[in-house]
Amino acid sequence: TKGQEACGGEVFQIGHLNFRYQEGTPVLRDVTLSLDSRSTAIVGQNGAGKTTLVKLLKGLLKPVGGSIWYGGEDMAGKTVAMLAGEVGYVFQNPDDQIFKYHVLDEVMFGPLNIGMKKEEAERHAREALKEVGLENLAAENPYDLELSERKLVAIASVLAMDTRVLILDEPTIAQDWKGRQIIGGIIQRLEKQGRTVVAILHDMDFVSEYFRRVIVMARGQVLADGTREAVFSRKEVLEKARIEEPSLMKLCKMLGYEKAYFQLKEGEEV
Ligand code: ADP
Repeated sequence: TKGQEACGGEVFQIGHLNFRYQEGTPVLRDVTLSLDSRSTAIVGQNGAGKTTLVKLLKGLLKPVGGSIWYGGEDMAGKTVAMLAGEVGYVFQNPDDQIFKYHVLDEVMFGPLNIGMKKEEAERHAREALKEVGLENLAAENPYDLELSERKLVAIASVLAMDTRVLILDEPTIAQDWKGRQIIGGIIQRLEKQGRTVVAILHDMDFVSEYFRRVIVMARGQVLADGTREAVFSRKEVLEKARIEEPSLMKLCKMLGYEKAYFQLKEGEEV
C-alpha cells in the first residue's frame, strides 16, 4: 500500500556535474538530477558514463565541476571513509572487492570496518549470506566459488553493513534465473525499507520487473529520466541509446496489446 511506501525525499542532489579522467575528453557533461528512495536503474551503452557517475556518488572520484550533495550535505567535504557506513557499493567485478580467504570473514569485514562489534558483525554477515542463499558456503574460500557466487558474496558483504544507499554495478551479470530472483527480492526489500537502490543494468527485463525509475545515459549526459512506463514507451530514446525493449513489452506489442503492458506495470504500483 501507499502508506508503507517510503517517501524519503531526496538522497543525492547532483548539480551541473562534470567529469573527465586526467586530461581526457569529458565523460560526464553537465549532469543534473536528484535521486530519492525509489529503486533507480541507470541504463545506456558501454562508455556512456554510468560507472563513472556511481563512483562519484560513492566518493571514489571527485567532480571536475559541479556538485553532489548527499543527505543535504556537500560531498566535497566528505571522505570515502566518512561515507563507508552510508553508501554501499558493489563493484561490477567481485574480484575488485573480495580479498579474504573465508566467505564469512569477507562478509564480516565491512561491518567490522564501520565499527560493529564482532558478534553483531557476524550476525549481520550470516543474515546477509542467508538472504543471498549462500549460508552453506560461509566456511569456503571465495576464490573457490564460481563468478556468480562471488558476486553474491560481494553483494552480501555490502548488505551486511546495512547502509542507507546501495549502489550495484551490473548485479545480474553471470546470474541464472535463481540468482536474478534473489537479487530482485533484495531490491524490493530494500525499497520497502526506504533504502535507496541505484543499479547499472543492461538487462531490460530485469529493469522493467524491479525498478520504478529508469535513467538513460548516453555520451555523458542524461537522455531520459522517468518511470519505467514513461521511459520504455519513448521509442526515440530506446533507439538513440540502443536499448532493447523488455521482452514482455515486445510480446504485448506483437499481440496488439501495447497498452496492456503498461497497465500491467501500473497495476503493480497501486
Ligand atoms: P559505462 O559505465 O557507461 O560503460 P564508464 O563510466 O565506465 O561508462 O566510462 C565512460 C568513459 O570513461 C569511457 O570512454 C571510458 O573509456 C572512460 N574511462 C573509464 N574509466 C577510465 C579510467 N580509469 N581512465 C580513463 N578513462 C576511463
